[in-house]
Amino acid sequence: MSGYDRVLVVDWSGGNDRGATPTRDAIWAAFSGETAQYFRNRQVFEAWLIEVLEAECRAGHRLLIGFDFPFGFPAGIAKNVTGRSDPFALWDWFAARIEDGPKANNRFDVAAEMNAAFEGIGPFWGNALPKRDIAGLPRLGSTRTADVPERRVAETVAKGAFPLWQLAGAGAVGSQALMGLPVLARLRTQFGADLSIWPFEATNTPIRIVEVWPSLTVKGAPPEGKIKDAWQVETLATQIACLSQDALWGLLHADMPDTARAEEGWIFGLGQEALLKADPDTTLRPPPLSNDCFALPAGHYWTPVEEALALLEARLRPVVARETRPLSAALGRVLAADVIAKRSHPPAANAAIDGYGFAHAAIGDGDQALPLHPGRAAAGAPFEGTLPFGQALRVLTGAIIPEGVDTLVLEEDCAINTTHVAFRGPVKRGANTRKAGEDSVAGAVVLRAGLRLRPQDLALAASVGVGEVSTYAPLRLGVLSTGDELAAPGADTDLHQVYDANRPMLLGLARTWGSDAVDLGHAPDDRAALAETLSQAATRCDMILTSGGASAGDEDHVSALLSDSGSLALWRIALKPGRPLALGVWDGVPIFGLPGNPVAAFVCALLFGYPSVQALSGAGWRGAQGFTVPAAFTKSKRAGRREYYRSRLNEDGAAEVFASEGSGRVSGLSWATGLVEVGEPEKLIDIGDPVRFIPFSSFQI
Ligand code: AMP
Ligand code: MG
Repeated sequence: MSGYDRVLVVDWSGGNDRGATPTRDAIWAAFSGETAQYFRNRQVFEAWLIEVLEAECRAGHRLLIGFDFPFGFPAGIAKNVTGRSDPFALWDWFAARIEDGPKANNRFDVAAEMNAAFEGIGPFWGNALPKRDIAGLPRLGSTRTADVPERRVAETVAKGAFPLWQLAGAGAVGSQALMGLPVLARLRTQFGADLSIWPFEATNTPIRIVEVWPSLTVKGAPPEGKIKDAWQVETLATQIACLSQDALWGLLHADMPDTARAEEGWIFGLGQEALLKADPDTTLRPPPLSNDCFALPAGHYWTPVEEALALLEARLRPVVARETRPLSAALGRVLAADVIAKRSHPPAANAAIDGYGFAHAAIGDGDQALPLHPGRAAAGAPFEGTLPFGQALRVLTGAIIPEGVDTLVLEEDCAINTTHVAFRGPVKRGANTRKAGEDSVAGAVVLRAGLRLRPQDLALAASVGVGEVSTYAPLRLGVLSTGDELAAPGADTDLHQVYDANRPMLLGLARTWGSDAVDLGHAPDDRAALAETLSQAATRCDMILTSGGASAGDEDHVSALLSDSGSLALWRIALKPGRPLALGVWDGVPIFGLPGNPVAAFVCALLFGYPSVQALSGAGWRGAQGFTVPAAFTKSKRAGRREYYRSRLNEDGAAEVFASEGSGRVSGLSWATGLVEVGEPEKLIDIGDPVRFIPFSSFQI
């Protein structure tokens, strides 16, 4: 998971203080990877949570928090009670009325007050106070007469979920909502723009609160001696924390009815349980790269590009875990194993057209008139039995070819009446039929390991009955900018400052390359701070791209640090644009220290970063693919290094180059659609001369 630094899951409680000894039906809250904590009552919990949130906000962390009670009521209720169709109006309505203390609260009275907004008896019911009847709050659900929707859409989809009108009894959630919504309403006020509620608010805030239902994905019994509530929140927090960034994004942007988004709320993960249940224990992570993995052969000074690429290709291998994914969540993932057809496609011979079927042996070459057999064969509705020899049967596209039929004629080529079908011969035997397995045969490999799954690949896997595939987890690719001069885009700046252009560019590349992009921010030109940043980053990244500070100067701290750690290989590559590439391994994580100049950073990221990312991701090494086009420019290039020019094809398909070769010219990157590559020897290029053009699409951008 990335996007959030921590996940907290809370099992809420609607009752009174449960005492000092941890017990069930109290509040249990667990951070992912940590043991659940027990809270004897809501007051203790609320004070604790506010302290945690303040500290996390100060630290600049991002938090996803799940509470296990409904955040909204069935559509229409908010309007009925408050006059507004706004779920938060209802939260505030409760917050204004609920009085809460460790020993007593007034939730049943508030429920009765809400019932008064509706004609008839109900909708709230259930009273856990044995000695006190409450006017307007029936003890039994069956006596209710109020004409109010019983469930939210979410509760009709989630099997076994309770409607929130029930306030008491095993499994009821009504009391929890009544006692929880005021707490959430207060958090909204206190944390303002730092906090948002899913799915009502679409904003991406440091604190995001979602509705969860642990029983959706944590079923069965807890381990011996463990309280079920504690086990459920721990497990769900881990399930959420193990989600990849794209899976998490998918869950936060899940399909749901408009009413759910507007006022009812939705359960996080509903309908996508398989994503949450992917068992983290089954994910096996390969060992990290060795420290000397980027060592260069002795005696080199300027390494040719080809040699540098060959070295990387030889030394990089997948470093990501494997995980089985449902097809619905596998788009863009790299296959970790071949996909084998479970069933042939098509599984049986079937009809390619709408028409009439018969046995070819029964007809001759001239005009034909065959008696029409009753019934028909259609897709999904096969014809049972055998067609008598010499007769014809109505057959529709996709239908299994019935016994006694081997050939079809198109209906447009037939004349029919109630008893016969007539058409012209000759007809080719087997015409208009599809053979069993003509597309794919059961047991055959239909997709190879290493393929990054595209929509059409999902179609192929589905067609042969494969519902789950073994994939690699996305490479967690960190991006760090270095340099004292850098400022965040949009910030107030002095003239000596430079906007950080490389970070959005490299994060964007990481995403388009199918990685989980991890924004590591910006590090100053300070060796200790940089070391600390890299050590932190190495715990949550599989590879790190830095920009700036990669040469051998006084302020080139990336190369200096890697050199101190013993894993530095400062690759002087015979390349323009691009000064040395600082390659190293930090706590087992490969670091690509790119040049600071945006153009050089971009070109080096494409040439060396792209194939390396693919190799580390399990997709195999990918060389750049170019083609030859005429030059629309002139150039005199000196010998000794390979050069890349920002380029785009003109209307005649000839390559233009950007007016300036300055490696600080970001505008040229945006102008270009590819690179012209010119090899190491000296070269004079004239208009019309053949040159190699590598489109950016070769790098998946
Ligand atoms: P360096 O490689 O650190 O010596 O930086 C080379 C040049 O690139 C300097 O002019 C830097 O200001 C510039 N530079 C470094 N990092 C960035 C960045 N993230 N965005 C834009 N320019 C940068
Ligand atoms: Mg610098």
